[in-house]
Amino acid sequence: ESVEQMIERLCVKIPDYPEPGVLFRDLTPLFADAAGFRRTIDALVDAFRGQFDYVAGIEARGFLMAGAVAYAAGVGLIPVRKAGKLPRETFREEYVLEYGSAVLEIHTDDVPRGARVLVLDDILATGGTLGATAQLLHRAGLHVAGFGLVMELTDLRGRSRLGGHRVRALYRV
Ligand code: IMP
Repeated sequence: ESVEQMIERLCVKIPDYPEPGVLFRDLTPLFADAAGFRRTIDALVDAFRGQFDYVAGIEARGFLMAGAVAYAAGVGLIPVRKAGKLPRETFREEYVLEYGSAVLEIHTDDVPRGARVLVLDDILATGGTLGATAQLLHRAGLHVAGFGLVMELTDLRGRSRLGGHRVRALYRV
C-alpha cells in the first residue's frame, strides 16, 4: 500500500460539517494508526531532508506533525499559535477566513534570523493559514524552506497563494 492509499483509507469524510455544504476530512484515524502515523512523518521528513533547520507547526493539528518531524530530523520547533497564547513579545499576522478573521503569532526571538524553516500542517485548503504563517516567518527574518502537508484539497487552489515556495502534500484530492 502506498502512502497515498494509506492516507485515503485512514481519512474519514464527513458531509455537512461544520456547516451545510462542506465535506470535512478527518485525519484522526490516520494519527491513531501506529504505522499510519509513522509512515506519514517519515514521508514528510524524506521530502525535505537536508533542507530545513527548524520546523514550524500551526496550532493545533500542525503541532502533531511538527513535534514528530522535529524529533525525527533532529531539529528544533516553532509553535505558530492562535492569538493571545504566547507570553512574550510576538509578531502578529491577521488573515481573512471565510467568515471573519483570525490571528497567528510567534515569539520574536526564539530562533536566529536566517534559519530555514519547514512549515507543517495537516490540510491545505484555501492557503490562508499557510500564507499568513509565511508572512510571520518573513517578518522574523526566517526563510521558508517549504510547506509539508498530509493532504491538499486541490480545488480550493491554496497552492497559488503560497508564492513559489515548495509545497509537498502526501495526498492530493
Ligand atoms: P486554509 O487556511 O483555508 O488553507 O485552511 C487550512 C486550515 O483549516 C488547516 O489548519 C486545516 O487544519 C483546517 N482545515 C481546512 N479544511 C479542513 C478539513 O476538511 N478537515 C480538517 N481540517 C481542515
